[in-house]
Amino acid sequence: MTVLVIAEHDHATLKPATLNTVTAGIACASGDVHVLVAGANAAEAGKAASQVAGVAKVIVADSPSLAENLAENVAAQVLAIAKNYSHILFPSTANGKNVAPRVAALLDVAQISDITKVDSPDTFERPIYAGNAIAIVQSSDAIKVVTVRTTGFDAAAATGGSAAIETVDGVADSGKSSFVGREVTKSERPELTAAKIIVSGGRALGSAEKFQEVMAPLADKLNAGLGASRAAVDAGYAPNDWQVGQTGKIVAPQLYIACGISGAIQHLAGMKDSKVIVAINKDEEAPIFSVADYGLVADLFTAVPELVKAL
Ligand SMILES: Cc1cc2nc3c(=O)[nH]c(=O)nc-3n(C[C@H](O)[C@H](O)[C@H](O)COP(=O)(O)OP(=O)(O)OC[C@H]3O[C@@H](n4cnc5c(N)ncnc54)[C@H](O)[C@@H]3O)c2cc1C
Repeated sequence: MTVLVIAEHDHATLKPATLNTVTAGIACASGDVHVLVAGANAAEAGKAASQVAGVAKVIVADSPSLAENLAENVAAQVLAIAKNYSHILFPSTANGKNVAPRVAALLDVAQISDITKVDSPDTFERPIYAGNAIAIVQSSDAIKVVTVRTTGFDAAAATGGSAAIETVDGVADSGKSSFVGREVTKSERPELTAAKIIVSGGRALGSAEKFQEVMAPLADKLNAGLGASRAAVDAGYAPNDWQVGQTGKIVAPQLYIACGISGAIQHLAGMKDSKVIVAINKDEEAPIFSVADYGLVADLFTAVPELVKAL
């Protein structure tokens, strides 16, 4: 049983989510783990994938049709080699979730979504009801198409491997979609899903200006990513892509500092796997304290600036 992991990359480097997905792949495999790098001029990303510990072979599919990650073309590339594999694993990222269902549908198998644990090659665990219950899912499909919640698996070592690299022709353009443009948020801060430290603010901040004034200096001091609760996002205090939670990003940094966030289950669903959780809230009954390793009952407008000063 050979497992195929679909790499998330920017053609030159691998995105960290690939490393967690490789770990999930190793847990599924009784044979080898291969990695598909589907891209354009993606030899460098292929080289990076070949160095990941535990990977036996890297397949680099190179074609202009794969330059912009169009889901139709990437899915066709996966399907071109899918029959050689027992499992096809995608990181549960926006990209992975864009391609995996197409692959599953065209293989006529049921997608197994958002796994956090591999019990055996055909049995997986995945959170449901905002993480309040774990479903155990067993699949009898010949090829298992799986998306992997990256916070559920440690990252494989990025170096130490020496996989063979095979270059194959990329698929032709499907003609079903075309790339028009991309607007990317530019930020000096670490991207939320990759950040080692995240500081998040909630509704208590009261305005976009206060959010910046109070939270940004703490993030700067700690070189942290900035996150927010949905209430803060909905109120316009923080941009949409900062939202952490069930309908935002799922994160598991080394340190998560929640300021003025009550700890609704939908927020906890996105951050409770963080290694160390610190909560600052003026209400000692706030549910966030039930998951916090360190809690400070205080007014954030005095506590956060004091913390910044002390750092
Ligand atoms: C289907 C669905 C999906 C959802 N998805 C998400 C999601 O992805 N992410 C998410 O975050 N939410 C999500 N929510 C919303 C969620 O239920 C909560 O409404 C939201 O998380 C509350 O945000 P908050 O903690 O910032 O605000 P509040 O619940 O209003 O809490 C504010 C907290 O700040 C404290 N506070 C006030 N002033 C101060 C001060 N000066 N100093 C210190 N503390 C202070 C208060 O004591 C309170 O605990 C979802 C809800 C639904 C129904």
